[in-house]
Amino acid sequence: ADVNADARPRISVFGTGYLGATHAVAMAELGFEVVGVDTDADKIASLALGKVPFYEPGLPELLEKQLASGRLTFSTDLAQAAAWGDVHFICVGTPQEKTSHAADLRFVRSAATVIAENLTKDALIVGKSTVPVGTAAALRELVATLVPAGVEAELVWNPEFLREGKAVEDTLHPDRIVLGGVTDRSEALLREVYAAPIAEGTPVVVCDLPTAELVKVSANAFLATKISFINAIASVCEAAGADVTVLADALGHDVRIGRQFLNAGLGFGGGCLPKDIRALMHRSNELGAHRAAQLLQQVDEINMGQRERVIQMAMDACGGSVLNRRVGVLGAAFKPETDDVRDSPALNVAAALHLRGAQVTVFDPQAGDTARRSFPTLSYATSVDEAVEGTDVVLMLTEWDEFLVADAARLAALTTVPRMIDARGKLRPAQWRAAGWQFAGLGRTAA
Ligand code: NAD
Repeated sequence: ADVNADARPRISVFGTGYLGATHAVAMAELGFEVVGVDTDADKIASLALGKVPFYEPGLPELLEKQLASGRLTFSTDLAQAAAWGDVHFICVGTPQEKTSHAADLRFVRSAATVIAENLTKDALIVGKSTVPVGTAAALRELVATLVPAGVEAELVWNPEFLREGKAVEDTLHPDRIVLGGVTDRSEALLREVYAAPIAEGTPVVVCDLPTAELVKVSANAFLATKISFINAIASVCEAAGADVTVLADALGHDVRIGRQFLNAGLGFGGGCLPKDIRALMHRSNELGAHRAAQLLQQVDEINMGQRERVIQMAMDACGGSVLNRRVGVLGAAFKPETDDVRDSPALNVAAALHLRGAQVTVFDPQAGDTARRSFPTLSYATSVDEAVEGTDVVLMLTEWDEFLVADAARLAALTTVPRMIDARGKLRPAQWRAAGWQFAGLGRTAA
């Protein structure tokens, strides 16, 4: 009954979070029939109505367009999606385990299981989630034990590199496509799926499963290392009276180094970098690669230390304690252009100051709702003005454009005492000082 009359492969996407929702919409945009499935019924209901359950620029418009095209549907029926599709993308979460640095693989295992058990025809299972090296080989064995007789299933890994805030662009026009563990047949099928970006010149790297898994986590580990590197240098700058911002600009002119990810400040957070470097640390130790684990341990410690530094700066600014002081926090998202607050440095600092007795008011242009759900005890403002009003100190913790163009003089007049801590190194100290603010940044001199 279920014969695919269309010659093009039908695509199912398991897990419709930041990665999967974007991937499903993008696959439909590339002209494929797609079903997105998730165990979270609320998420599916929302997507089916054309509402993206998180903030991602450009995605709502494309979701509506593809729902209208009829190529894209959403469902909670995982078994039916497994029976229907030819290519099944696994996009479920791989969060950090509660009790260790390791990745929690129960969701990828359960997605692979439901797909394998419900196949009705030969199919390709494509892992996109970020997983510790060795996971795909184990899943391959699991799938082999579960597929119904007479059905052949291949499992390959095709890690995803999209950035939140630029997810649509990154999915439709990726920097590279990594195909791990493919046969001639599955490589041809995936080249058909990615025909559009490949035609644009996107490089395709064909490799074995462990290399594909490691490309992804190494990319994140490198970016994290770059950030912790500049933060380590920032502490030397501070001690030596140098300016890390100028230094980073000068370093960045070297094309071997590059300017991106060299912003000293509060450090990295989010649903990927922290848990990915910790999972790699854990896996490296398991594999006996202790030096790699030690390097990543330092990267993580330097990064978490930046949060402590900013908390201390806020206390110092208030004369040693923030007890009963009014603190304005600009930013809750882990970075601009997203409402994601998973492991957000900004919220972490805000919550720590709240715990130390400060009256903290947070404003974020997009992440107010997600922040409130995670930290309901903090106060939330609906504008910069409201967050700044009556404060003893203001902290700029997420570099939204809106904060960078704020009118320093007007804001100064709203405060009790105009004190700014720029934890992202993005404000112009001279401008804020001229407007009457006491200004402090990380790794910067008085300039
Ligand atoms: P997410 O938490 O936003 O989404 C995961 C989704 O999977 C959730 O909606 C959850 O309900 C669903 N799910 C869990 N178990 C399921 C199952 N058995 N069947 C179907 N759905 C199930 O996470 P995310 O940010 O989209 O990340 C997903 C994966 O992609 C992770 O491995 C992550 O490291 C990786 N990744 C994320 C990004 C990013 O920027 N967010 C970028 C590249 C890679």
